[in-house]
Amino acid sequence: MSNIDSRNVDLVVIGGGPAGLAAAVSAKKNGINDLVIVERNDWLGGILPQCIHDGFGLEIFDEHLTGPEYAQRYIDEAKELQIPCMLNCMVLEITPEKQVFVASPKGLICFNAKAVILSMGCRERTRGQICIPGTRPAGVYTAGIAQNLINLKNVMVGKNVVILGSGDIGLIMARRLTLEGANVHAVVEILSHTNGLPRNIQQCLIDYRIPLMLSHTVTEIHGQNRVESVTISEVDENLKTIKGTEKTIECDTLLLSVGLIPENDLSTTCGVQLNPVTRGAIVNENLETTVPGVFACGNVLHVHDVVDFVTMESEQAGKSAAEYVLGNQKQLQRITVHAGNGVCYVLPNCISKNSDVELLFRVLCPTQDASIGFFDGKKLVKTKKFRKVHPAQMIKVKLSKTETSDISGLRVEVLQK
Ligand SMILES: Cc1cc2nc3c(=O)[nH]c(=O)nc-3n(C[C@H](O)[C@H](O)[C@H](O)COP(=O)(O)OP(=O)(O)OC[C@H]3O[C@@H](n4cnc5c(N)ncnc54)[C@H](O)[C@@H]3O)c2cc1C
Repeated sequence: MSNIDSRNVDLVVIGGGPAGLAAAVSAKKNGINDLVIVERNDWLGGILPQCIHDGFGLEIFDEHLTGPEYAQRYIDEAKELQIPCMLNCMVLEITPEKQVFVASPKGLICFNAKAVILSMGCRERTRGQICIPGTRPAGVYTAGIAQNLINLKNVMVGKNVVILGSGDIGLIMARRLTLEGANVHAVVEILSHTNGLPRNIQQCLIDYRIPLMLSHTVTEIHGQNRVESVTISEVDENLKTIKGTEKTIECDTLLLSVGLIPENDLSTTCGVQLNPVTRGAIVNENLETTVPGVFACGNVLHVHDVVDFVTMESEQAGKSAAEYVLGNQKQLQRITVHAGNGVCYVLPNCISKNSDVELLFRVLCPTQDASIGFFDGKKLVKTKKFRKVHPAQMIKVKLSKTETSDISGLRVEVLQK
């Protein structure tokens, strides 16, 4: 082990996407000078360079930026603050003692860190993970890979396309492929509601007259060398296919937009506990995981709808990591937060009783005129009304310290009408 380059550092930020950049900038502004961003790619900005459409930055800058423009603002800020960024460097392991092992072009480095921020983003679910029967021809892509090929490599993925899954990346790719001259025959969604943001349904499907088939799925892929067609079937309320509803759509390409999985293989090597619903770390209101001094933010914590919220969350993680390193972290009494009826998940998983907190959560079903209840056991602590809630949209609600000071637990649920 003597050929490992061992270095002491206050903070290692893993991943140079929007989360890692914002966290590092915030840590530096909050007093951490000895920090490093480690990024496996040879560029900064994570997934954003391939997102060339606009719509980024509305919350933070009140501007319509493209993905690369949005990323560049934080790359510039990190440069101005002289934050070291190690590109082409991949973190292989983090130990519970916060040793971070990095494969770099010059060899193996071990950072002995006081604090670590996990900001490794997420990966797309593939055909293998959803087990679509049929042959294995060319022409089946995840939507993100197709986005990368078209926007960054100038490679057109196909001419006649079916998209499985109505997540935002699939919707954006339906429009992108149409603009590039492809014929998008349908976006097929197994659920009875869409999975993407309402603005993307309007701007990417309705505006381009691309059919959306709800309660349908792809039940077989056909073709030898290249995809020739797919079979689509209707599903019942238990998501089981209904015999006799099969239809064939001729196409040469199938794009999959069937979910994202936080990249937490590394997190578990240092003992971070994961939430089985989000598949991200269990965190408190400081975004500190179950391992003291290890923080998580961005898509590695939970899959976000809008990148601006990734940035806001990551600024909090950077500030919290700085407080930890500088010894300014307060020891607080915490209570657990649970998702109740109609709620998919709530973050943070535990909160301090004596500070103002912001809860983030997603509902399970689209609902008009929804009332959300915040309970301590049977006691209703607060209600909040929304004209419309949708699973694709993250909801944020603030609780004040007066609302949380007296409670011994918190449950968030959609109230029955
Ligand atoms: C394919 C795709 C398309 C998207 N399109 C849109 C869109 O159009 N509009 C929108 O608002 N949002 C979009 N999003 C979501 C948006 O990009 C994310 O909210 C945002 O990029 C999340 O930032 P992040 O830093 O958490 O993750 P990422 O941007 O994924 O960055 C994570 C970084 O960590 C690095 N990394 C991972 N593991 C390691 C390791 N072991 N060692 C070193 N580095 C590592 C990765 O290389 C990457 O650079 C898209 C997401 C995906 C996956």
